[in-house]
Amino acid sequence: SDKSKIKWDKAPCRFCGTGCSVLVGSQNGKVVATQGDPDAEVNKGLNCIKGYFLSKIMYGKDRLTQPLLRMKDGKFHKEGDFQPVSWDMAFDVMADKFKSALKAKGPTSVGMFGSGQWTVMEGYAAVKLMKAGFRSNNIDPNARHCMASAVGAFMRTFGIDEPMGCYDDLEQADSFVLWGSNMAEMHPILWSRLTDRRLGHSHVRVHVLSTYKHRSFELADNGMIFTPNTDLAIANYIANYIIQNDAVDWGFVKKHTHFKQVTTDIGYGLRPEHELQKAAKNADSGKILDVTFEEYKKQVAEYTLEKTVEISGVPAKNLEEMAKMYADPKTKVMSLWTMGMNQHTRGVWMNSLVYNIHLLTGKISKPGSGPFSLTGQPSACGTAREVGTFSHRLPADMVVKKKKHRDYAEKIWKLPEGTIPAKPGYHAVLQNRMLKDGKLNAYWVMCNNNVQAAPNLNEETLPGYRNPENFVVVSDPYPTVTCQAGDLILPTAMWVEKEGCYGNAERRTQHWFQQVKAPGEAKSDLWQLMEFSKRFKIEDVWDEALLAKAPHLRGKTMYDVLYRNGNVDAYPIEEAKELNDDAHDCGFYVQKGLFEEYAAFGRDHGHDLAPYEMYHTARGLRWPVVNGVETKWRYKEGSDPYVGKGKDFEFYGKPDGKALIISAPYEAPPEAPDSEYDMWLCTGRVLEHWHSGSMTQRVPELYRAFPDAVVFMHPDDAKKRNLRRGDEVMVESRRGEMKSRIETRGRNRPPVGLVFVPWFDARQLINKITLDATDPLSKQTDYKKCAIKVRKV
Ligand code: SF4
Repeated sequence: SDKSKIKWDKAPCRFCGTGCSVLVGSQNGKVVATQGDPDAEVNKGLNCIKGYFLSKIMYGKDRLTQPLLRMKDGKFHKEGDFQPVSWDMAFDVMADKFKSALKAKGPTSVGMFGSGQWTVMEGYAAVKLMKAGFRSNNIDPNARHCMASAVGAFMRTFGIDEPMGCYDDLEQADSFVLWGSNMAEMHPILWSRLTDRRLGHSHVRVHVLSTYKHRSFELADNGMIFTPNTDLAIANYIANYIIQNDAVDWGFVKKHTHFKQVTTDIGYGLRPEHELQKAAKNADSGKILDVTFEEYKKQVAEYTLEKTVEISGVPAKNLEEMAKMYADPKTKVMSLWTMGMNQHTRGVWMNSLVYNIHLLTGKISKPGSGPFSLTGQPSACGTAREVGTFSHRLPADMVVKKKKHRDYAEKIWKLPEGTIPAKPGYHAVLQNRMLKDGKLNAYWVMCNNNVQAAPNLNEETLPGYRNPENFVVVSDPYPTVTCQAGDLILPTAMWVEKEGCYGNAERRTQHWFQQVKAPGEAKSDLWQLMEFSKRFKIEDVWDEALLAKAPHLRGKTMYDVLYRNGNVDAYPIEEAKELNDDAHDCGFYVQKGLFEEYAAFGRDHGHDLAPYEMYHTARGLRWPVVNGVETKWRYKEGSDPYVGKGKDFEFYGKPDGKALIISAPYEAPPEAPDSEYDMWLCTGRVLEHWHSGSMTQRVPELYRAFPDAVVFMHPDDAKKRNLRRGDEVMVESRRGEMKSRIETRGRNRPPVGLVFVPWFDARQLINKITLDATDPLSKQTDYKKCAIKVRKV
């Protein structure tokens, strides 16, 4: 090919939350190459293997290019076969089903499941459509499976979501602790920065905690395997060690913190009638109560070294080494985590326990020191969290429960008071239960593959999708198992086939322009949301009481009310690039309009975004961005513009500027191995595949690198079951079974009694087996532990 004709432009990688910038090369209307962006601070010219093959993800042979509807005799039929239809017919059938559900059962019968892979504008348009248009808070992102516990704890402890530090900490820390994160495979570019720091500075130490050995252990100075769920005890032991060894930074603690404790008896987020639910709720469940330092000290004093060794199985010398490091006032330490801590029935507690360690020692919001939760998806922060696509949230950390917050949103949206319902909607796992129970009937899944991703899919997920009472729409670039379970499939434009923004794990908002056209009739999620909204008159979705407050909106479409209200359509088409299908379909610069309206929520509220144009050239900016300057360390005087002069630190998400040190006990998980189901199951990802593999399995090089999921097992466990490497086995839990093959070597090395199975493989659905237990506070699923047995086939 003629290389001179390749056009290069920047875009963030569309896979993980690291947010690497890539240079995208397009030629003759196709993306033909990508390379690490040398001007990017995040990745400094590097990409991992997924980023390297980005150019191929759009060109799988089975890319969807037309809407497909289940049909029989020329009409929609729940049990019919998928047949191509026009967009008009697809939206007609879909609108009819949504209208019928609304008429029969009201707004709670419609819902949407979205994604941290939506662009900021798509997520924002979806929130408006559901919360203000349909007046249903039943919208949740797949980030519920991923980051909800981190969100819950950030909000509890600091009153504002997301990490206070940034990736620059990686070059300044003296010690790193991985609390349940395999960064070497899941955040490889950040891992390379951490590795540089470790190998280039002999004093730097890496501590890795996990329930099984993985690639990150190769760099570990102190590797620790703990019994599932006992990280709660380990974190408490460290707090106890800090207190017992007089290492509390009293200057910091007295000025900037309060002590609290949680109430217990919160259950496991299972159906109330579930036999494992056990704990009864009481009036105080889930609350946090005031305690004195002495009471806090007494609670953590229970976690002695001896007791923690006994509970966790980690040798005393390893625990002590880590505790000593945290307690040393001279050591700057960065605590990092991903799903190991968040996918946990006590995930919010666990996140708080790690904040406690940093708050007790004052090792927070300082270069090289701080707790840092890594995100899974490219815009788990920017879209799912900041835009507020959770069933309880609104943009900029606001929540539907608070009248003041609803009023604020309604004012920006120019809608009458009372438009947004006050009750949080169904969260991810509850949506599946409600589909199954026939209470959620018209449902739209966008930008995710939840039938493969959701827990306990045989008992809870699949029956809901196939419930004859329901109509399920799935928008995706490829025919996933979720598409197959739905009734209508909509073909979707992906990545640089549209203009958008993502927000990565260090609060960095990054923008890209459309660079190529989508194939066939595929259209962006944004276009789909807006076109669908044109099918409804506002009278179809609002009741008379609300309409009476806004008579001027009568007769208008939902599209007019939500997207053509003088904010979103304020920017003329001339400002958009020539190649911007969404803007040209609308006739105005819709991405800028949505972005600027959304930004109004956070400006002067600690979430300031820069003007849209600034992102066109910058390799992202970390919010709050005030007067064009980004913020690296929040809550720190001199770095964060919101911290008053002379305050040193100010946790301004809380009314008195003080963060909370919240004690919480160790508790056992709902299900553990017993004589029948005698092993732990832990699920997770692999370097080569993005989540459910729907994109990366279509890239031949990535497919060949890791073609099929396997059951990683300790050789002693294999021997005990008369199994050899490569043998076919059945993995069984109380909920389902799955055939796979045994792997006793390679990158993952579980201890005796535990198996690790990746979930990327659509032919081996491990979520038939997982338990749908969630953290009752964050509603996040625990995919890291349940009881199984393995037998030879
Ligand atoms: Fe970077 Fe993550 Fe993309 Fe790899 S997958 S290039 S680490 S953003």
